[in-house]
Amino acid sequence: MFGFTDFIGLQEPIIDQVMSGGDALVLMPTGGGKSLCYQIPSMLRRGVGVCVSPLIALMQDQVQGLTQMGVRAACLNSALDPNTAYDIERMLENGQLDLLYVAPERLCKPGFLDFLAKCNPALFAIDEAHCVSQWGHDFRPEYTQLSILKERFPDVPRLALTATADKPTQADIVRNLQLENAQTFATGFDRPNITYSVVPKKNANSMLKRFIRDNHPQDAGIVYRLSRKKVEQTAEFLCREGYNALPYHAGMSAADRARNQDRFMREEGVIMVATIAFGMGVDKPNVRFVCHLEPPKSLEAYHQETGRGGRDGLPASAWMCFGMQDIAVMRAMIDAGEANETRKRVEHSKLASLFAFLETASCRRQALLGYFGEHIEPCGNCDNCLSPVETWDGTEAAQKALSNIFRTEQRFGVNYLAQVLAGADNDRIRRFGHDQVSTFGIGTEMSQDQWKSVYRQLLAAGLCSVDLDRFNALTLNERSWPVLKGEQTVRLRTDPVLPKASKKKKRR
Ligand code: ADP
Ligand code: ZN
Repeated sequence: MFGFTDFIGLQEPIIDQVMSGGDALVLMPTGGGKSLCYQIPSMLRRGVGVCVSPLIALMQDQVQGLTQMGVRAACLNSALDPNTAYDIERMLENGQLDLLYVAPERLCKPGFLDFLAKCNPALFAIDEAHCVSQWGHDFRPEYTQLSILKERFPDVPRLALTATADKPTQADIVRNLQLENAQTFATGFDRPNITYSVVPKKNANSMLKRFIRDNHPQDAGIVYRLSRKKVEQTAEFLCREGYNALPYHAGMSAADRARNQDRFMREEGVIMVATIAFGMGVDKPNVRFVCHLEPPKSLEAYHQETGRGGRDGLPASAWMCFGMQDIAVMRAMIDAGEANETRKRVEHSKLASLFAFLETASCRRQALLGYFGEHIEPCGNCDNCLSPVETWDGTEAAQKALSNIFRTEQRFGVNYLAQVLAGADNDRIRRFGHDQVSTFGIGTEMSQDQWKSVYRQLLAAGLCSVDLDRFNALTLNERSWPVLKGEQTVRLRTDPVLPKASKKKKRR
């Protein structure tokens, strides 16, 4: 039916698990083949499979594709006219559907679950399951109501699927969706065919031009920019330089966007210059490069956006340039946003993890996957592995920095910790009595900005951790101790990518 000869990745054991009535937590990168894991059991099990998805715009496409293959699929969401919705509900009642896509708010509407109970649900697939978590990068409150599925349908197997979830998010998915008995299937989030590189920004457009000219002169690619105006500028610039570049952002008419997307999909060698409005559900296998001219919001977003390159498994590039200015803007955007304090804290912490990644002197892939809780050896396929950056022996600095975390009781963030090391003269430090600890003022050989860089690099290397529940305090972990005990050396980069040293503060 699907035209495949074999299963890929963990599809087969996942399908077995669901067919035998069990629950599953599926962690696989974009392009890993998650859909089949619930589509096949939906067809094989008695009744209708229900897939919960927040991406209303994509449901229709998905249903269309399935219908063409002969799967009896339909979707229910707010974009549907009442007559069509009525027809689909009758088909559900009459057992004429194998698979229903439904938006979470529709599923949890009063009465709908009662209705569904009469339609014999075969399974529930919760797609984009990271949306259930406050720690995720795309929290959607309506997802939290999905815990009710377990109570209403205790015997119906449930799958939660995501391509992007760090450890706290994974734990949240399990807790909120009551998936304690689920088997976890994780192929790992690595995309080995993608080469990662990050460079400091000088002139974004001409750097981009050089990158494309030297590496991907004929290829299709995506270039992400933060604002609509910059999208327009870069698209025009590339066209002037003779490339086939198209803009895409939410300020364009739906028709223009659809036309550009269509050309990107069909023609060879089109470069799409876009805001993050572009990409969800775009399944073009031979995208050879994804560039960011401003950093993404988080490492999850970076993983997801760069993951649109090289879906065919052939080599692809993820190339990013960024400047201090971008980072100031991103911080300010969070502060000025509508989100509540907790959410802002989460976003700042995600930004901090991103900076750590930007600044790391060691393997990028190691830092990226480390963020998702996976440990790997240096990859040999990122800028830092391919041409190692200049480093210095930062062992003593690391010991001071980690010991400072310990002396201040693992309750403070990077800024405060840097102040203590620099021996800053302020009330907060005196109030906590931290002008009395042994690490106060032992770091005057470097500026506070340099100490912040040290902390971020330690974080990126996994040599300390962040406690989200305690205002992003840095904490020690099991990997901190070998450094503190002098059993392990630490290399830090000579040219911190981030802030230049500010004037040294005199210790008073
Ligand atoms: P995800 O939802 O994990 O991003 P999809 O379900 O969209 O991934 O599948 C990604 C791509 O892999 C699609 O183009 C799909 O057709 C293809 N695919 C899925 N399963 C198989 C399989 N068993 N054999 C070959 N290709 C597959
Ligand atoms: Zn590497």
